[in-house]
Amino acid sequence: MQVHDVGIVGGGIVGLATASALMRQELPNLVVWEAESRPAAHQTGHNSGVIHSGLYYRPGSKKARTCVRGRQQLLEFCERREIPVDRCGKVVVATVPEQLPALQELERRGQANGLRGVKRLNAEQLTDHEPHVRGVAGLHVPETCIVSYPAVARALVEELREGGASVNAGARVVALERDASKWRVTTTAGEFAVRRLVNCAGLHADRVARLAGIKTGLQIVPFRGEYYRLREERAHLVRHLVYPVPDPRFPFLGVHFTRRIDGGVEAGPNAVLALRREGYRWRDVSLRDVTAMATFPGFWRMSLRYWRVGWDEVRRSLSKRRFVEDLRALIPELEQDDVEPFGSGVRAQAVDSKGHLIDDFRVEIHDHAVHVLNAPSPAATASLAIGEEIARLVETL
Ligand SMILES: Cc1cc2nc3c(=O)[nH]c(=O)nc-3n(C[C@H](O)[C@H](O)[C@H](O)COP(=O)(O)OP(=O)(O)OC[C@H]3O[C@@H](n4cnc5c(N)ncnc54)[C@H](O)[C@@H]3O)c2cc1C
Repeated sequence: MQVHDVGIVGGGIVGLATASALMRQELPNLVVWEAESRPAAHQTGHNSGVIHSGLYYRPGSKKARTCVRGRQQLLEFCERREIPVDRCGKVVVATVPEQLPALQELERRGQANGLRGVKRLNAEQLTDHEPHVRGVAGLHVPETCIVSYPAVARALVEELREGGASVNAGARVVALERDASKWRVTTTAGEFAVRRLVNCAGLHADRVARLAGIKTGLQIVPFRGEYYRLREERAHLVRHLVYPVPDPRFPFLGVHFTRRIDGGVEAGPNAVLALRREGYRWRDVSLRDVTAMATFPGFWRMSLRYWRVGWDEVRRSLSKRRFVEDLRALIPELEQDDVEPFGSGVRAQAVDSKGHLIDDFRVEIHDHAVHVLNAPSPAATASLAIGEEIARLVETL
């Protein structure tokens, strides 16, 4: 059996970006396994398509560092590969005076993270940027862009294959075994052997880590984000991207309006517990996934801590009226009939045994393997920078 230098579990944008960075390090003898029939089938293919600027993240955190660098690398990659990017910018809107301190903190973080052109807006200037949006103040963030992440993933796969890497779709990793010099990898598409392993399995990263024999103390809890779309004749209500000031208790950004690179305006996503790791609808339920949550003490501690926010999210998920009411905080003239349901995505959120939602990216090294255990938003934006950092860690194995 051929022994590859490095094997990467997961053909989402983090796995593909890691493979790409390894290839640039003259390690072309790579193999990528993707469980689904095509790369980018889960988080990467169901996200908002935003290239984040780095505004939100605690200065010094991995998110801040890799988002700012990754954004630049991604823009260069898209230019080289002729992938359309719209540098539309966004506004973050304080709808009530109580949100002004949080808005100021975002401005401070933006400056600390080296963002360019962030500008405070008063209510009137806000209306100049977004005539239909109402708020007491805002931040204009010109560096935020939109892109199609599946298009980026396709371009990465093309480059990997051209460079000699083996990218295998329909190959779910089901067993891992380490002997003295290599990993024996059993997939649904056959057996492989690799010297070093990288786990970028997204919604299944904790399970792949367990297959590799490590105890991380973390579990992935899936949070579904549901979207509505503005009807075509009302899409003019949003010119760029419009975000609320996020709720600091929760690691999600709050429902926002996002232009899509292929046209149209999305509203969402919310954040409800999914009953299956690929639970894109309420009726998608997995006994295995529900049991895994129910037997994890961290899940119950998390539920106790966040039950009120969680309950509000469930009610908003089940009622279009509530969803639209929340959106009306940003655009008061929005009517129920202005929006229609438009798909969903599921976030892989790592939770520790104390019930804390892990905020920053989490990457761990164990036994000739690198495990990416938490890569939530903005990991798509940051992917090329994350990939480079992982590739450097792989060199040390
Ligand atoms: C609703 C939503 C909106 C978001 N919006 C944004 C945004 O606008 N901007 C941004 O930067 N980020 C955004 N994010 C976050 C971003 O999409 C993710 O952080 C990023 O896509 C993570 O990439 P990944 O490769 O780690 O995971 P994934 O894309 O989920 O890829 C993991 C892959 O591993 C595969 N896999 C799993 N188990 C196995 C196995 N055993 N064997 C083989 N393969 C396996 C899966 O099939 C999957 O394809 C959003 C996420 C969601 C869900």
